[in-house]
Amino acid sequence: MQDLIQRAAQDLIDSTYAIALTGAGISTESGIADFRGPSGLWTKNPEAERQAYRSYEKFLEDPKSYWLEAMSYARGPGLGNLWDAQPNPGHRALVALEKMEILKCIITQNIDALHEKAGNRRVLEYHGSFMKLRCVSCNARFFREEFDLEKLKQEDKLPPRCSRCKGIVKSDTVSFGEGIPRDVATESLDEAQRCDLMLICGTSAVVYPFASLPVIAHERSGVTIIEVNAEPTPLTREGISDYFIQGKTGEILPAIVEEVGRLRQ
Ligand code: NAD
Repeated sequence: MQDLIQRAAQDLIDSTYAIALTGAGISTESGIADFRGPSGLWTKNPEAERQAYRSYEKFLEDPKSYWLEAMSYARGPGLGNLWDAQPNPGHRALVALEKMEILKCIITQNIDALHEKAGNRRVLEYHGSFMKLRCVSCNARFFREEFDLEKLKQEDKLPPRCSRCKGIVKSDTVSFGEGIPRDVATESLDEAQRCDLMLICGTSAVVYPFASLPVIAHERSGVTIIEVNAEPTPLTREGISDYFIQGKTGEILPAIVEEVGRLRQ
């Protein structure tokens, strides 16, 4: 294990454009359950997974009902109260790597905004943010506070409408069956095609198209792909990752940062 941590630290130092890809696993140590880990929400409740697959269909069929349902559990079930969640040592390690000017960008599947809360400056939220709403016509993002949803509900004016183009507004979080918004999809693809090191942290790597980003990076020569995960994934098994460091991101990422500091002295 220590050998792999040293190897990762040296690879990060040698890289010229390192990026990180993160998933729900990096936030479990902040008390937010993942979906597919051993204690994941869907591992324990497969019906919740089936319901999630219906959510976008419901939005398209009837945006008003979608909003009424979404408002009924805005701070309740699902991932729980994300407003109070705090970054953990794994998130903070990625901030340290950015401050060292090694890490250039994070592409996250997480909707919990913990990378921004931790202090990372360049974060692409591939699946959106729970804090934001998005116009499905022009992709404009709005903070939730910009809409008085309760008032709209009372006045029977749901769904909210975009202030720029009058399109229908939904949660920014990308539902199953919904395309990745073009802006973030394009920027993420550019990053995957530009990086020479990709640090993959806490994802089961089964959700597409996110899981294709490591494959795209792997197709180019000279790209090092490091995976830090509690358990092996298709990326490990199919040889997309150059090496796999098994364990908790909240322990391994800080250990890598410490080693980078030591090697750079
Ligand atoms: P996933 O639940 O499919 O997989 C999480 C992976 O992380 C598993 O392989 C698990 O073994 C591993 N893991 C769990 N704890 C870990 C830890 N401490 N250290 C290292 N690895 C750990 O998650 P996914 O791949 O991100 O896909 C789930 C989808 O659901 C994403 O699209 C995401 O948008 C959404 N989601 C987001 C959150 C969040 O924002 N925090 C939480 C759950 C689900």
